[in-house]
Amino acid sequence: MQLPREVIVGKGTLTRITEVAKRLNLTGSALIIAGSKSHEVAGRQVSNLLTQAGINTDTLLIKAVNYKEILTVEKRIKEWKPRLLIGVGGGTKIDAAKLSASRQNIPFISVPTTLSHDGIASPLASIKGLDKPYSIMAKAPLAIIADTDIIAQAPWRSVISGCGDAIAKFTAVKDWRLAHKEKKEYYGEYAASLALMSATLVMQNAKLIQPENDEGLRVLLEALISCGVAMSIAGSSRPCSGSEHLFSHALDMVNCPHAMHGEQCGVGAVLVAYLYRANWRRIMDTLKQIGAPTTASELGVKDEDVVEALEFAATIRPERYTILHKLVLSRVECEKVAKMTGVIG
Ligand SMILES: [Zn+2]
Repeated sequence: MQLPREVIVGKGTLTRITEVAKRLNLTGSALIIAGSKSHEVAGRQVSNLLTQAGINTDTLLIKAVNYKEILTVEKRIKEWKPRLLIGVGGGTKIDAAKLSASRQNIPFISVPTTLSHDGIASPLASIKGLDKPYSIMAKAPLAIIADTDIIAQAPWRSVISGCGDAIAKFTAVKDWRLAHKEKKEYYGEYAASLALMSATLVMQNAKLIQPENDEGLRVLLEALISCGVAMSIAGSSRPCSGSEHLFSHALDMVNCPHAMHGEQCGVGAVLVAYLYRANWRRIMDTLKQIGAPTTASELGVKDEDVVEALEFAATIRPERYTILHKLVLSRVECEKVAKMTGVIG
């Protein structure tokens, strides 16, 4: 089990990066992985702070996160042999740093600039161009430095997506329990409780999650970090990713361009909660309160795309048993679920 040793959250916390690196004894040299935008927002400052503290820094700007980019990052690590890797950005840049650091066996620090999903603290990475559309195991960050002054500058839609990803843990944990009960799969109560608590916290504090409200951002940030820790404890994405995530992956495959990951998972959670006869209306109401999409048209997809995605979601990951694997819904049944919840008209 690998857990982050330092988690620093709050306004202006970016300046503490050197103190954290020193405390973890990770001085000497650091390679920063960022996107062009996240470099402007935070990466350059990270580089300046480390340089001032006598740490040699190099920055590698990457675009899309695919396998080719990962190899580029790894090549730089092999050539330059940094003591530390720092991922600065939204989920994708952090995932690139996470996977490269894991494969090259060097420590990495996560510096999120957006809160669009739970990858900021998790041991899993989502990389395009691999044969699997879902996340793969890498390693958890040794430290997370989340400066809410920086995160507040990100598009509001990324916060909405992060909330959807947190709320999705309601159904993810239900699927995990189901797999334990019916397929004797390993189930960890502590990891499940952590994930569930994240969803509950976001739902209970939904009214705080508004632009310009630092408290709301902190709630979401802490919830997403807890999700990452839950996955580290479980040793897999199980506590945080169930059939609602399979629905989101399926929607990515049937519809391109698509909505954000957490937005799709939020709608997936509504559909799956309905199948569990759980309180899907509460999930729906919370999503609405936050301003998240709750219908196909708000997701920017066609009604039939939702139905199709729900129908074939289970086939994406046959080994991950969920309610969709249990029920094996027909096209007509999928359509009924989507209609009953108001996701399609
Ligand atoms: Zn997710």
